[in-house]
Amino acid sequence: MAIITFDCDEVLAELIKSMLDRHNNTFLWIPLAWDEIVDYYVENIPKIKEQKISFDASKQVFDEVILDHGTISPVAGMDAIVRGLKNQWHELYVITARGDELQEATIQWIETHYPKMFSDIILANHYNENSRCKWDICHYLWSELMFEDTIHNSEKIIAKDIPVIMPNKPWNKGYESGNNIHKVDRVEQMKEILVKKGFL
Ligand SMILES: [Mg+2]
Repeated sequence: MAIITFDCDEVLAELIKSMLDRHNNTFLWIPLAWDEIVDYYVENIPKIKEQKISFDASKQVFDEVILDHGTISPVAGMDAIVRGLKNQWHELYVITARGDELQEATIQWIETHYPKMFSDIILANHYNENSRCKWDICHYLWSELMFEDTIHNSEKIIAKDIPVIMPNKPWNKGYESGNNIHKVDRVEQMKEILVKKGFL
């Protein structure tokens, strides 16, 4: 039995794609395609930055999607990965950057799409004064593996000697596997790594 941790957005939940769908591939009326999202913080993408969109305005767009229950799709294939690990008696946790204001919606969404899979859902409040670092939470939980899509968090997590499975996304495109970060294009590759590491 191992403790395995999962990021929520873009690992379990297709938040960005759901936001783009909802707004017909625009972000605050600026045309935006999936491949153009070369920075996870959308307000930092050059053509968005030009419009001087604030972090708060950007967060509000995403919060609306999160609070509108049922509009976010799960990432394809992740239910089988999560279920496979749970069936091997691993203890699974969600560690998300989301804040307490999104707690109810987050728990409800996870329980709808990944019912009874997770021992706890931890909100790290990365965007407010109660912020706790994801990498510290991974460390204190004795996580043996984290699923995470952002480079910044992944580098901090591997610095705690916790390996990371990083799904390939436009904002981590240039980042190669190595140093305990296993970048994957497909769910099948995740399975191979999990088998190799003895988790499946
Ligand atoms: Mg994420």
